[in-house]
This record gives sequence, structure tokens and C-alpha cells, in this order.
Amino acid sequence: IRRIGVYTSGGDAPGMNAAIRAVVRTALYHDLEVTGIFRGYEGMIEGDFKNLVSRSVSSILQKGGTMLKSARCPEFRTVEGRKKAYENIKAAGIDALVAIGGDGTFTGAQIFSNEYNIPVMCIPGTIDNDLAGTDYTLGFDTANNTVIESIDKIKDTAASHNRLFFVEVMGRDSGSIALYAGVAGGAEAIMLPEKDTAIDELIEMLEVAKERNKTSMIVIVAEGDKNGGAYNVAKRVKEKFDFYDTKVSILGHLQRGGSPSSFDRILATRMGYFAVNELLSGNSQGTVGIRGSKITSTSLEDALKGKEFKLDEELITISEVMNI
Ligand code: ADP
Repeated sequence: IRRIGVYTSGGDAPGMNAAIRAVVRTALYHDLEVTGIFRGYEGMIEGDFKNLVSRSVSSILQKGGTMLKSARCPEFRTVEGRKKAYENIKAAGIDALVAIGGDGTFTGAQIFSNEYNIPVMCIPGTIDNDLAGTDYTLGFDTANNTVIESIDKIKDTAASHNRLFFVEVMGRDSGSIALYAGVAGGAEAIMLPEKDTAIDELIEMLEVAKERNKTSMIVIVAEGDKNGGAYNVAKRVKEKFDFYDTKVSILGHLQRGGSPSSFDRILATRMGYFAVNELLSGNSQGTVGIRGSKITSTSLEDALKGKEFKLDEELITISEVMNI
């Protein structure tokens, strides 16, 4: 391997920059060259490349988003699109890739790697924490910190007015943020896409909490909850349970931004370092993950096959026990 191409693709997440920096510096340490591919697969198809040196990645460690930009690129799903991408890669002398993104990004990388026999290592970057092959994805910890900071603030105002707040957090298919931030923020109830909690069941939980003289209540609703998001849940609860003044707060894209937490910076740095070393040891198609406290690699095939990421059942139970 002489030159590594690095790109970020799909949804951005805090920690992606820290991973780019780690990839660039580890590669340079091994006397490899690095090309930054801008805007993911779109930039690959258009040849939007830039040579990266150590100073190119100065002062990005602490920044959210991605300096390489990201995009969704339907053209890369076509054989012709990928052919254009390969011609650009070849012309630039890139002979290995590091992809940072979610499972869409990984799928594209696997198809491309199979078609053109180019080695690729994938780093999981998504706030949703919904990828197989790793306990945590980059950006998840930072997003949780952002959410609990918001919950803490909402609690102050909720407690002053006897309010029932429905806080909607990101997670279309995955309840990871809702569960973790719900536990860390002391929510009274958590609505997860994986659980399908009925409105009557939720009202029962709220009744119990009310009996305990709670002055305020927070219900975390994942955006993918089957009842149709926080507004719908709030509306339906209010029809039957109107003891509290009801408010809805949708946190939205602020969960995607911000300076990465210490955890995400260290995870990103370890993953970037590991990805380059794996390529140098001959791994030709893998994802990087953290299992327990160890950085490990899973074959792309297994990671994509085992896609159904499961929530921690014990943590769900704990969240319920904490509301006694
Ligand atoms: P994420 O990586 O966050 O899951 P997407 O699902 O949007 O985000 O995927 C990012 C990009 O990966 C897509 O815009 C597309 O260019 C590429 N991609 C996803 N699935 C495929 C596929 N089956 N074949 C080729 N490219 C794909």
C-alpha cells in the first residue's frame, strides 16, 4: 500500500474529524501518502480529491461535523457511477480506502471493494449507535451528552410549573440515544422504536409517577417510536391524562453537532490508528469496532449481515426500576 484514500459519507457525526486526523497521521507515520476524498462517494465520482499532510488535519480534533464534508450519492449505487469512481481512484494512485460512516457507507464500500479488488477498512460514524461489530459508534456519546444537557434544562422549567414534557430525540430505527439519554437524564418513561409501548401503558406509568407526587415528568420519545413521534404521543396522552400541563420539545439536528466528547475523541483516534494498521497487515475488507475496552475488527460481510443491532435489555430494565 502506498496511498490511502479517506472519506466520510452518509450522516455526519461528532468524532469523524478526530478519526480523519488519526488516519492521516498514522498513515504518515508509516510513510504512506493520504488523499482526502471530499463529499463521500459523490466526490469519488467527481474526483474531488486533495492530498493531506499532517498540517491539513491540525485543530480539527475538537470540531464536530467533518472537514471532508459528506453527501448521499445515488449514482454510486450504479455500476457506471462506481466505474467513474474507480477511474479517479486509480488515476490518483489510491490503493486502499478508509471509509467513515454508517451502514449505507459500509455497503457501498463492500460492493466497490469486491468489484475493483481494493482494500477497505470502515470506521463506524453515526450518532445512532446502530451498527453491528461495535459496542459504540463515533458520535453517540457526544449526542447523549447534548441530549442530557437539554433534559437537565427542560427539567428546571418543568419542575417550576408541574409540567409533563415529551422530549423527542433522534433515532428513526434505533432507540439507543433515547435509552441512554433517558437513563442518564432520569426520564420517567422512554418510548423506543424497538419496544412498541402502547399509549395506555405509558399513561399507567405516568399515573404511578403522579401518585408519588412528582412535580414534573419527562418522557423521552425516539423519533421512530411507533406512535408517531412526540407530538402525537403528547396529544394522545393529554386526551386521557390531563393532570399536568403538557409540553413538547423536539431536539432535532442540534444532536448531530458539537465538539466531540473525550470518549468520542479517544475512540475515533484509536479506530483511525487501528484501521490503517489493519490495512498494512493485509486486512482487505473490515470494520473497526470497540468490544468491551478492546478495539477489534469484524469482516465487512459479518458486520453487514449481523445488521440487527440489539438494545441492551438490562439497561431497559434498569430504566424501569429507576422509576420506582
Ligand atoms: P449512512 O452511511 O449514514 O448509512 P446512507 O445510507 O445514506 O448513509 O449511505 C451513504 C451512501 O452510501 C449513499 O448515499 C450511497 O452513495 C452509498 N450506498 C448506500 N447503499 C449502497 C449500495 N447498496 N450500493 C452502493 N452504494 C451504496
